[in-house]
Amino acid sequence: MSQRIRFTLPQAEIPAAWYNLLADLPEPLPPPLHPATRQPVTPDMLTAIFPENLVQQEISSERWIEIPEPVREIYALWRPTPLLRAVRLEKALQTPAHIYYKYEGVSPAGSHKPNTAVAQAFYNRQAGTRRLATETGAGQWGSSLAFACRLFGLECVVYMVKVSFQQKPYRKLLMQTWGATVHASPSDQTEYGRRVLREDPNCPGSLGIAISEAIEDTVKHPGTKYSLGSVLNHVCLHQTVIGQEALKQMEMAGEEPDVVIACVGGGSNFAGLAFPFVHRKLTEKKQTRIVAVEPTACASLTKGELRYDFGDTAEMTPLLMMYTLGHKFIPPKIHAGGLRYHGMAPLVSHLKKLNLIEAVAYPQTRVFEAAVLFARTEGIVPAPEPSHAIAAAVDEAIRAREEGKPRVILFNLCGHGLLDLSAYDQYLSGQMKDTDNGNSQTES
Ligand SMILES: *Cc1c(COP(=O)(O)O)cnc(C)c1O
Repeated sequence: MSQRIRFTLPQAEIPAAWYNLLADLPEPLPPPLHPATRQPVTPDMLTAIFPENLVQQEISSERWIEIPEPVREIYALWRPTPLLRAVRLEKALQTPAHIYYKYEGVSPAGSHKPNTAVAQAFYNRQAGTRRLATETGAGQWGSSLAFACRLFGLECVVYMVKVSFQQKPYRKLLMQTWGATVHASPSDQTEYGRRVLREDPNCPGSLGIAISEAIEDTVKHPGTKYSLGSVLNHVCLHQTVIGQEALKQMEMAGEEPDVVIACVGGGSNFAGLAFPFVHRKLTEKKQTRIVAVEPTACASLTKGELRYDFGDTAEMTPLLMMYTLGHKFIPPKIHAGGLRYHGMAPLVSHLKKLNLIEAVAYPQTRVFEAAVLFARTEGIVPAPEPSHAIAAAVDEAIRAREEGKPRVILFNLCGHGLLDLSAYDQYLSGQMKDTDNGNSQTES
């Protein structure tokens, strides 16, 4: 075998610190605002729902934040994750491009989400929290938090977007196996959920509604804190182990990525891979292109507005400066449940505004076409969410062929699709439809 395909790091190379992009921003991030006063929120307002140690992390401007040893010990169950070169995909595309992917699907929950779930459970445990409440879309976040809570002896209650609860019963069972309580949202467990159900008994739910329910649950139950799987600064921070490892692994491969690609729902797996590369763009003047890929059906970066908006539907969260489709937006029921969020992480939004990253949107059928091509060449069945990144990587590789110019592409395969096979069933049987005009849109 002449070609090296798999690049792995020893356990000792699990990063010792998370990388905090806030330390290096050329322009400060607009602060979250109190919805009534429109003044910046104070840390003590956030401690109503988050433990103090995580609130400190949310606003910290320290560049490197040490990863606690108990968190690294749990990371060692699956980290460092492998980096692979997609040589068979390259061959199928007849491209001169080299395509690499960082594979986060090897975690117990099958995605990148345990990187922050484990950290959040640790800090909550340290702060004396007994129970964590959260929402989940496709179920990846809920299952990741259920797993992490179990390892740190915390109770876990999950409000799961109803359409996913129905389409993805296996993730619900995964959460229950790890000992969590799961409610389909909108639920009858909260005042807000009951109100939504009165207005629309068939409401498919949305992440915004589920967040509102989880927050209401948090403030009404003593000993309970709230936990978010994306969007916030500390969540993006925890994911940066991905990009730090990838930097070392690309060095092992002896290559420098020209373009780094990841899908974006709330922005955390993108942040995880991209921020360490943004760090080098800012401090070493590297020219790496960094591309965020979203669904056309829920395209906050390419079709949304950059403004202050609520993180949830019921207007309970602080106002965040972000690209948003509006907090009342209920996205179509696309299979990439993890990408059905109306807004975008303020840090990712800020990078877009500063032109440090690009964004592109893809319709669902093109995403599944790329997913099936990937499965048939590389073997791994990808989750619908990272299949957006695959579609963009495939198009980059085709452009390389058409222009006759080689390039190195790196994307984040942030989860496997073994619990998403019903979506594959729809695609393979020709029943999948695009909810919009079906054209991919590009905007940089
Ligand atoms: C949750 C999830 C996403 C979307 O969330 P981000 O915070 O944008 O990463 C994407 N892919 C997978 C596999 C997920 O579980």
